[in-house]
Amino acid sequence: MRRRLLLAALAALATTAQAATVAVDVGHFLDKPGATSAYGVPEFEYNHSLAAVIAARLAADGVAVRLIGHRGEMADLHARPREAEEGGADFLLSVHHDSVKAHLLEPWTWRGRELLHSEAASGFSLFVSRRNPQLAQSLACASAIGAALRAAGLRPTPHHGVSAEGVSRPWADEVNGVYYYDNLVVLKYSRLPGVLLEAGVIVNRDEERALATPARRALTADAVAAGLAACGVTSGGGSAKMQPN
Ligand SMILES: [Zn+2]
Repeated sequence: MRRRLLLAALAALATTAQAATVAVDVGHFLDKPGATSAYGVPEFEYNHSLAAVIAARLAADGVAVRLIGHRGEMADLHARPREAEEGGADFLLSVHHDSVKAHLLEPWTWRGRELLHSEAASGFSLFVSRRNPQLAQSLACASAIGAALRAAGLRPTPHHGVSAEGVSRPWADEVNGVYYYDNLVVLKYSRLPGVLLEAGVIVNRDEERALATPARRALTADAVAAGLAACGVTSGGGSAKMQPN
């Protein structure tokens, strides 16, 4: 009987310790699906697939996950942080795949389709907003996710820092691939700490091939889980190895 009580107490403790809820936001929606990849796949499809793997990975660690925009219906950007807050989330992760500026895209033909690609950039990046009221926590988590992605062998892309139009995103943590992007609606109108992840560049033909593999999705999901544990949002279980700056 005492043993049973002890187990019940431990179970309650474990529940308390792992009570974190993470909102995983699927970037874009079916009517405006974001960038088009080098091989002609809409960004929304990549975001949807990766968000599902991240959600499953976090759930395996006992994290409660709230998927946002996964039905492809969410046209109102403001509804995303609102839904995360109303769902009791402690953190908001917005999942995207990256492109480059239009002038860097080159035409090519694949299986009879006229498409655009660029080999000018590759790699992941992370964004935080200085207009988010929990900037310190957002940045700590972005840096930790970036560090875990680097530890897994990926490299951040520097291409958001340079622009022909002169609009550059300042680094928040260059080593770990984190930029400031103050006006991102999902981050600046959120009271929750939040990070936008660009998992890789889908207009880059080689990187798109990699991003489409289950292995790359699992690696990214592991890094997210490890990062969110390292910055204290979740209580962990992340299997990716961490590496300090
Ligand atoms: Zn996007």
